[in-house]
This record gives sequence, C-alpha cells and structure tokens, in this order.
Amino acid sequence: MASLWHDAGMEPSANDSEHVVLPGFANAHSHAFQRLLRGRVQRGLPRAAAGERDSFWTWRETMYACAETLDVAALEASARLTWAECLEAGYTAVGEFHYLHRPTGAVVPGIEAAQAMIRAARQTGIRLRLLMTAYRRGGFGTPLSARQQRFDSGTVAELSDWVDTLSASLSVGDRAHIGLGFAIHSVRAVEPELLGAVAEAARVRGMPLHVHASEQPAEVVACRQHMGLSPIGLLDAMGVLGPDCGVVHATHVDAADIALLAARGATVILCPTTEGDLGDGVPPTDAFRHAGVPLAIGSDSHAVIDPFAELRRLEYDARAATGRRCVVVGDDGDPVPALLDIGAAQGMRVLGFEGVGDRVTLRSGSRFFSGVAPGDRAAAALLGGSAALVDQVEVAGQTLVVDGRHVAVGLS
Ligand SMILES: [Zn+2]
Repeated sequence: MASLWHDAGMEPSANDSEHVVLPGFANAHSHAFQRLLRGRVQRGLPRAAAGERDSFWTWRETMYACAETLDVAALEASARLTWAECLEAGYTAVGEFHYLHRPTGAVVPGIEAAQAMIRAARQTGIRLRLLMTAYRRGGFGTPLSARQQRFDSGTVAELSDWVDTLSASLSVGDRAHIGLGFAIHSVRAVEPELLGAVAEAARVRGMPLHVHASEQPAEVVACRQHMGLSPIGLLDAMGVLGPDCGVVHATHVDAADIALLAARGATVILCPTTEGDLGDGVPPTDAFRHAGVPLAIGSDSHAVIDPFAELRRLEYDARAATGRRCVVVGDDGDPVPALLDIGAAQGMRVLGFEGVGDRVTLRSGSRFFSGVAPGDRAAAALLGGSAALVDQVEVAGQTLVVDGRHVAVGLS
C-alpha cells in the first residue's frame, strides 16, 4: 500500500497538463466598504466598554461609524480595492448589496454612490450585479436612527427610479458585465406592506432580488412578536420568495422555513466566514440540501476574501452539525461538483450571470500539490487550499489576474 502514496510524486510539478482549472467563483453577497473594517473589528472592545460583550450588534456600531467617514471617492476606492482582491482570490462576479445611499458630502440620498460602484466595476473588470437596497426604518415600529439616515432609500417608486436611471446609463459594453437588481435590507428595515412592492419592482424588470433574513436570533424573535411569522414566513406571505430571490444567511430557520424556501425555489446565500466572524451561528446546510434549496456563497463583510475558505467552512460547519464527514458531496462522494455548484454555478445564477465561462487556473507547481494525485487536486484545493493557489483568472476571455496579481488597474 505504501507505493500508493509515493507513486503520486513528492516534488512540485509545473506540468501544464496537470493544471487545475476551475470555473470563476461567484461572490453573491458583498458590502464592499466593509473591507475597510478588516483588522479593526477583529479586536474586541475593551471589557469596560458599556459593560457589553462583543456581538453582531457591537460590530454593527463599528460598521456604522465606518460608513459615516466615507465620501464618494472613498467608497469608490474601497470597491476597487475589494473587487481587485476578489478577482485575485478567484471570484469573477460580485453581488453588491448597496445601501449607503447618502455618502458623506451628499445632501440627500441618491445614486452618486451607486455610480461610484459602477465605475469601480469597470476599472477592475469584475462582473457586478448592483443590488439597490430598500432601507426605510430602524426596526419594527422604529424610525431610522441618526446613523441610519444615510441608508434611507425613500419610497419604492424612488428606489425604482434610481435603478432605471442607473440601468439606462450602462453602455452596450457595460451590459455584458454589469447589471442592476433590487434588495430588501431585512424585514426589520422595510415595512411589511412594502415588501411585495419591492419584489414586484424587481420582477417586472426581470432583475434579481436579494434580502438578508434570519441572521440573528433577535431578528427572528422580533419578527414573530410583531408579525406572528418568522422572517422567511413573512417574506413568503408578502410574495417576495421566488426563483430569482437570494436569501442571505438564513442561519436561524426552522423546518417550515426550509420547506418554504424549497417550495419557492429561492436560493440561500451563505457567508460562512462572516457568519463565523460575527458569531451568527451555524446554518442547517445539510437540511437545505436535503430539501433541494439551492445554495451560493458570499464574502459579505470581507474579513476574509477567499472562496476556498468559504466552501471549506461551509463543509466543516456541516460536519460539526451532523457528526459526519463529506456532507456536501454528490451521490458518488465527490465534493468537487457539489462545492463548485455552490461556489460558482448557483451564485452566478442568483446574480443573473448564468452560463458565463470564466476560468480560474491554480498554481499546479505549488508545493501544496506535492504528492497529490492529479485527480485529487481539485478536491484538495477546495477543502484544504486557499486563494494563494490562484495563478490566473479570466473573465469573459480576458485575463485579469496573472501570477496571482490583478493587472487591469493599479491599486492607487
Ligand atoms: Zn450583508
């Protein structure tokens, strides 16, 4: 048996025929500016601070403080940085869940910041689905706080006008890479009677609709108290869930929620590294798969930008929750098609970029692959590798990453 291991070879190989080529990954959930929080939010608050333990909610205050510092130029720079890093990690498309409608310096909410996002997509070459987000209140029966005013999206008609104006501004060349869509920030942030109107605005335009739901237990409790339904139940009752709908997180869902998501064909977008960083909880990945709920991934807060890390954590969390190994696999036990379906195909679909042929080539000469049989390399990379393995990235036939570095623009 020993020769089985030795036959694979123990030296790095640069043989082109052994290159590992993967499809471009889809980052289906992003807030580009939150990349600026990296490091700052990995430190805990001083224990004396408000006598409070670090949590999603204390993280949110830091995020709000960061948002207050950003003007249009800073937002654009943050998106360029984030998306260049996404491309270097192997993501070729991003769903930007955009709610910073009034950056610092703007007098009223509008599309200045969204236009900056579109410029950043052109400069980096990443595929962008810009999801213009409805955000109207601070919580159930609570107005926007002073800090949340900059997220105010106005009426559904105003938000729809923004989408139409931005969409009309795209050139023919842009349209292959850049498109608009809608988002509902959460059932906390939009009145229930308007949820269906946002969904309808997306539907009549043939655009995707994404929504954060059931990320934290407190949101589920508040929704049940005020509406008598879970967030997923409320979204369904208001006609939001459907095949073009991406539900972000869905961490704290019950069997009835999972059945609803499956029945409506909604995609759940998991953000495993962010959900870990924020202490959200572990999603019921195995139950989603058994129910036939399509899954995708996103790097959300960008504490980590690495599709290999997202997919590995997704699988490892599923192992921890079930006590089994190799949970996200096909019938033959192979994790590669199952993980690439989540990391690439379903993400592209829920972003409206279905069928694109983007490619990610890994460094076959890396020491990481030493001793790994060619047929095992994709599995090794997806479950043990990292974005550091990415050598070249092609978007629509154009090579945007060479030797692991983004080449389309300088990161000034
Ligand atoms: Zn998010």
